[in-house]
Amino acid sequence: MEPFRKLAIIGLGLIGSSIAHAARRGGLAKEIAGFDASADVRQRAAKIGFCDRIADDIAAAVNDADLVILSTPVGAYKSVAEAIAPHLAPGAILSDVGSVKGAVIRDIGPSVPAEVHFIPAHPIAGTEFSGPESGFATLFDGRWTILTPLAGANAAAVARLRGFWEGLGSQVDEMDATHHDLVLAITSHLPHLIAYNIVGTAHDLEAVTEGEVIKYSASGFRDFTRIAASDPTMWRDVFLNNREAVLEVLGRFNEDLSQLQRAVREGNGELLFETFSRTRAIRKAIIEMGQDAPNFGRDQKKT
Ligand code: NAP
Repeated sequence: MEPFRKLAIIGLGLIGSSIAHAARRGGLAKEIAGFDASADVRQRAAKIGFCDRIADDIAAAVNDADLVILSTPVGAYKSVAEAIAPHLAPGAILSDVGSVKGAVIRDIGPSVPAEVHFIPAHPIAGTEFSGPESGFATLFDGRWTILTPLAGANAAAVARLRGFWEGLGSQVDEMDATHHDLVLAITSHLPHLIAYNIVGTAHDLEAVTEGEVIKYSASGFRDFTRIAASDPTMWRDVFLNNREAVLEVLGRFNEDLSQLQRAVREGNGELLFETFSRTRAIRKAIIEMGQDAPNFGRDQKKT
């Protein structure tokens, strides 16, 4: 892939810093510039050195960049897009990594100058850690990134962004934003909501002490605690911005849970066994597709 002249990354946390590390590893940009709203994060990022230059203002970061990637929490996208719009170079690609896509298009779209190619993206890769120290070059290796180009998007620009993500180590799919939001509501957003809830419930359960919850966590609970340790700002913004799809899958989830509740109450072993057998097959398929390790990925940093 012909390297970009200048890659600008706005938001230098887990995902932004991982993009910088991986872009450098792949030689995907001649220059990598970074900006973060937090002076403390800028300082820490400069010390780690994954960008060639950390700008003190957002305009200088995107100035003359031919690829700009927003990697702040989704709730900040609108104001960031408004701030950078007058400084974007004609012909530049503007993309993002937000975990929801419909709301991101709603928030960024109106600010994008006509001569800039806006192509939303979402890497399905992450960890429960945040901040510039948590990024690493192999985060996207073998994972999927979903592009959600708008109708009439410039095909050459989409192909160029696809090449960039492949260069970061990712496999790339394309789909429309509404479908993305539904798929991610069930595969990512609902599991996070359930994890936050179950860990919260355990914490509130007065008859069971916190010591016991920690001591006996290997019985299943600890796998929820990893997800429930994810960044509160990022996840607040995901639920505020994918409300409809999350409520849709939550409705189905509640119906299925009620069915299992009834099966437990009525001693319906057949239904329980049939359900658990079906779900076991899904786990097997995920491992076969290389999207997790058989040991539940416990030795790995990646999710
Ligand atoms: P993160 O580690 O918390 O990093 C986000 C960074 O953006 C923080 O340093 C934050 O600074 C900064 N920021 C906040 N508002 C800003 C603004 N207005 N201008 C510039 N910088 C700003 O979060 P992350 O995990 O990298 O997530 C970033 C994006 O990636 C989110 O949109 C999320 O939906 C998406 N994503 C995350 C994952 C995941 O697993 N984490 C996976 C795929 C996609 P402060 O900390 O000072 O606020």
